[in-house]
Amino acid sequence: MQVQMQREDIIPILRIQTTVLKEMVNFMIDRGFIQLLPVITSKVTDPLGPDPGSSVVAIPRIRYYDEELVLTQSMIFHKQLAVARGLERIFIMSPNVRLEDKRRRNTGKHLFEFTQMDFEIAGAEMKDIFSLVEDLIIHIIKTVKSENKEELEELGREIRVPQKPFPVYTTHELEERYGKDWEINASADHREPFWAVCFKREFYDREDPENPGHFRNYDLIYPEGFGEALSGGEREWRYERITERIRRDGLDERFFSPYLEVARQGILIPSAGAGIGVERLIRFLSGKKHVGDVQLFRRVPGEPILF
Ligand code: ASP
Ligand code: MG
Repeated sequence: MQVQMQREDIIPILRIQTTVLKEMVNFMIDRGFIQLLPVITSKVTDPLGPDPGSSVVAIPRIRYYDEELVLTQSMIFHKQLAVARGLERIFIMSPNVRLEDKRRRNTGKHLFEFTQMDFEIAGAEMKDIFSLVEDLIIHIIKTVKSENKEELEELGREIRVPQKPFPVYTTHELEERYGKDWEINASADHREPFWAVCFKREFYDREDPENPGHFRNYDLIYPEGFGEALSGGEREWRYERITERIRRDGLDERFFSPYLEVARQGILIPSAGAGIGVERLIRFLSGKKHVGDVQLFRRVPGEPILF
């Protein structure tokens, strides 16, 4: 049996990861965020769709006495409730289980269990998130370059420090230029990270009030073919709009009932946030082919699980 821990480059990779985790947490705390602990079992979780980027084959469910619980696919609803309850800026190092289609085995960027640094800010807009994330990415790259010089050399990886602000394109522009599956080609065509805005996806992302059919959401895309880094959006908070969009998406309203009840009581507020995949960031920084290559215990869809 090939044991994961014998791979020689896992040690420099995990040293880089250690720097990244420390810097991520410190950066967010310095910016005034409160760190929450992750929630792993819930009554309701992110439907992850309809998102062209998602391929989950089932929501992970567990039965606990009389409770039907799900494992966290993302903490989006918990984030919205937390900021609505007066926690203005929050982040969580959040483990997510997403049972992706096994045909995603070789995309290089899919895992069925991963961690994201998930954050949310009350009253924020897209531009606030862009500025914060750009500062975070630049800070992390600079710190890794100085604190992990040896590890980067060992891995043969050179990384450029990007300039703020990162370019912003609409998904429509990207599709026109690179075709329907623009992500990989657009990523390969760039030397620096860039933003893609306006995805038709989950009901909790806000539709542009001035431009119906357009959405105030975004992905950050790494350069050099590494693809998606982060997804997020400004949020919908109004009960009528939420239910309308759940229906439009053909989702089962009963599943979302605890969340809908909160929305119906008018508790939700405008906010914006995002989640940045930790393993994808480590893969980008260490220049590995597959995101599973940076995991000590690989969780790649369609691969046998050794431990
Ligand atoms: N965490 C993301 C968000 O804030 C959603 C996701 O996990 O894909 O929108
Ligand atoms: Mg995404």
